[in-house]
Amino acid sequence: MAEPVRVRFAPSPTGHLHVGGARTALFNWLFARRHRGVFILRIEDTDRSRSTEEFIVSIVEAMRWLGLDWDEGPPASGYRQTDRLEIYKAHAERLLAEGRAYRCVCPPAELGAQRKAAQARGETFRYSGKCREANVPADVPHALRLKLPLSGQTVVQDLIHGTVTFEQSQLDDWIIVRTDGGPTYNFCVVVDDVTMKITHVIRGNDHLSNTPKQILCYRALGYPSPTSR
Ligand code: GLU
Repeated sequence: MAEPVRVRFAPSPTGHLHVGGARTALFNWLFARRHRGVFILRIEDTDRSRSTEEFIVSIVEAMRWLGLDWDEGPPASGYRQTDRLEIYKAHAERLLAEGRAYRCVCPPAELGAQRKAAQARGETFRYSGKCREANVPADVPHALRLKLPLSGQTVVQDLIHGTVTFEQSQLDDWIIVRTDGGPTYNFCVVVDDVTMKITHVIRGNDHLSNTPKQILCYRALGYPSPTSR
């Protein structure tokens, strides 16, 4: 029998549910119901400075008002990213142990200056890879970066956009865990989609540019990517 469909709506509680979010939630809900699958509500609250309890309550109420009932999610625990920090930590440690991530001690001020210089040249800032082979010891405060292939392409097979190709030169070794120990957004999304066994990712167009980054993270973790639409 084919694998059961599992989809998710994953709002960030940085505001009330808006029409775009409701549309994404509706598509996921319809897809799950059509395939007798599972619809998951996941609260993406890793951005602690912008997420609030009030917005979580408001989003949950709005979903109920719309009649978009979920099969897994709040009030059960484990469906808020802040409930899942240990899971992200374990995945980050594994990537580090396997040499797929590395410690970085580049000061934010230095990176900020490089970013400004790149912008002044009309270019997108890309991390230089300075710490890639530096073997930074564990006892120095550090961030963790994902070690990406230096050349080639990452191909996104999107069910709506078709084949979308990203040159490796457009991507850089992005941070998966900040110096303060906080896991970053794209990393949490990948770990969540893997551990929640999501089969199809249905989300706003604005996330298409995040998809190649996330695909490379799935690969680094040794997991197949879900289907994207
Ligand atoms: N949390 C994201 C947002 O509110 C959605 C992430 C995703 O669907 O992958 O836009």
